[in-house]
Amino acid sequence: MNDQLSAYIKRYTDLEAAVRILIARKGNSLCSQCSCICCDAVMCVEAIKSPFLKLIHQQTEEYDTEKGFLTTTGCALKKGRPSVCYEYFCDDHFYNQPDELHADVLKIIGSLLYHAIQGADGETSIDDIQTLEELDRADFQTLEKNLNESFQALEIIRAFYRDGKMIADSQRFLKTIRIPEEFQ
Ligand code: SF4
Ligand code: SF4
Repeated sequence: MNDQLSAYIKRYTDLEAAVRILIARKGNSLCSQCSCICCDAVMCVEAIKSPFLKLIHQQTEEYDTEKGFLTTTGCALKKGRPSVCYEYFCDDHFYNQPDELHADVLKIIGSLLYHAIQGADGETSIDDIQTLEELDRADFQTLEKNLNESFQALEIIRAFYRDGKMIADSQRFLKTIRIPEEFQ
């Protein structure tokens, strides 16, 4: 693994940990009380097909062909989950938000990891790269730019949750982090 990949993985892992904290925030996550968990082994398999995610989680041996990484206590992956696992919030999550801006911010939280992994090789995201050799040759200039934008959005969201306000420029910036509708 080259230094650029190593540095990118470290910062991406920090971003994933920060996203998890925001999602677990009171009022944002209903999943821990859910009786109809929407995890699916079809999504889990992404975490063992992707060399990038495998380098992060290093838990491939815990994958079960029927249940994926889902256990009786939730997902076994502490990090390196496919970004799609952070993207989906069922409608109940949005009913629970106090207003439209909070609902929009929740969607952006779900887009932070997606945004950070785009542009590894043209339109290919880094989690879709299939070999370690190709990973080392990824476009780290673009990846770092996107990762930095996700961190910038993260800081805006943290400030919003702290102060309850967001200026128009910040709202405009967050709109650039969204997952394109055709992929939702
Ligand atoms: S997103 Fe909704 S349906 Fe899926 S696990 Fe969370 S609460 Fe349950
Ligand atoms: S959160 Fe974990 S168990 Fe759920 S779909 Fe993602 S990898 Fe699988």
